Amino acid sequence: MNPYRQLPSVDKMLEQPATAAALAHFGRDAVLSAIRQLLEESRAAIAAGEDAPDLAELSERLQSRLAAGAQPSIRPLLNATGVIIHTNLGRAPLSQAALQAMHSVGQGYSNLEYDLAEGRRGSRYSHAEALLCELTGAEAALVVNNNAAALMLLLRGVAAGREVVISRGELVEIGGGFRIPDILRQSGARLVEVGTTNRTRVADYAAALSSDTAALLKVHPSNFAMIGFTAAATLAELVQLVQETWYFDTISVLNDLGSGALLDTQPFGLAHEPTVQESVQAGAAATTFSGDKLLGGPQAGIIVGQRDLIAELKQEPLARALRVDKGTLAALQATLLAYRRGQAVAEIPVWQMIGAEAEALARRAQTWADQLIAAGLAVTLRPGESAVGGGSLPGQTLPTTLLALATPHPDRVAAALRGGDPPVVARIEADTLLFDPRTLLPGQDAALLRAITQAIS
Ligand SMILES: *Cc1c(COP(=O)(O)O)cnc(C)c1O
Repeated sequence: MNPYRQLPSVDKMLEQPATAAALAHFGRDAVLSAIRQLLEESRAAIAAGEDAPDLAELSERLQSRLAAGAQPSIRPLLNATGVIIHTNLGRAPLSQAALQAMHSVGQGYSNLEYDLAEGRRGSRYSHAEALLCELTGAEAALVVNNNAAALMLLLRGVAAGREVVISRGELVEIGGGFRIPDILRQSGARLVEVGTTNRTRVADYAAALSSDTAALLKVHPSNFAMIGFTAAATLAELVQLVQETWYFDTISVLNDLGSGALLDTQPFGLAHEPTVQESVQAGAAATTFSGDKLLGGPQAGIIVGQRDLIAELKQEPLARALRVDKGTLAALQATLLAYRRGQAVAEIPVWQMIGAEAEALARRAQTWADQLIAAGLAVTLRPGESAVGGGSLPGQTLPTTLLALATPHPDRVAAALRGGDPPVVARIEADTLLFDPRTLLPGQDAALLRAITQAIS
């Protein structure tokens, strides 16, 4: 029999008893559209040589499709990977203060662009600016949608139609197709490459300066490290070079920091990640960084720098296109206030995770192991490494204790974990599933253990 003829009609599907309930619950349009999609997919499957699904199977698929369609597709999950700033998993979890700020500003009206003292229109840019200046030592600040946007706006404002000098060692790709040379081109600036991949000296920049030079750009190599025979000019050296050049007042030294740490990473046993304060101190005309990397706040791109330069950027039409939402500003301010109180490590999840003590992680993993072994699972503990991630501190790790689950089908178990509610994302190494306590938030332990037990059974 022709397999296409075995497929039920839309009407036949509508007549199924379960469909009646679905109609009442999800509405006729959603049900009809899901039925048509299913039938179309079935025809495509038949064309590819598969059997026609029967009515019962189609009914069941219809129900699960409708249920899934009624849920938001973006949802919370448990990050057991041990990568703290995981770009695929939403980067920085927000602090309680940031969440509260978003909630209270989001549920009603706010003075986003309203000057309460004067009773007239204000500027959304005013909200985080004073705090950013206080924390970084900069004269002025501007917040846009993300750091890629910040860099684009900065280059357009400073260098459109003119030259930007950059080391060949810093023409990097950050990820997700974000490449520095492309951003430069899109901003309308002309790229002038100097030095070599592994070594660039101040003299290389000096030789490239001309009356057409608008800026020297330094880009922090966030996600890779070069070892061996390497050299790079420091920011301070570039600032000095520009000051010694007779047409210096037309050349800006710009610094794209990427992760934008406000705290020193060394006390946590990590290498030094350049801080925003150091960049400002060294004399960068503008420094750009992300809000959701080491700052530990919402997605945002922050530009701090000289007053005149920032004032010009605010006037760029592009700034309007890249502007941030009230929720972002509220969360960013709340996050920055934790730094101002000296409570960043205590309150901001990214720093809590970086600062988690090895003994505390070992105890937490031991508790997991005890409970899973009691439930009959074969798990062990082993020393391992967590990563900061998010384009910061490449190759640097923090010691941790991993829960290891050996299984003949690690991919299948990992898929079951991802398909659970909440989904769990773990690491697989040499046929072993690994769970790192460092990136599990407080209070997520029971849900993790339940998910592991279910995925195994
Ligand atoms: C991450 C990063 C960016 C991009 O920042 P987003 O906030 O993701 O847009 C740009 N430059 C550097 C050096 C980075 O590390």
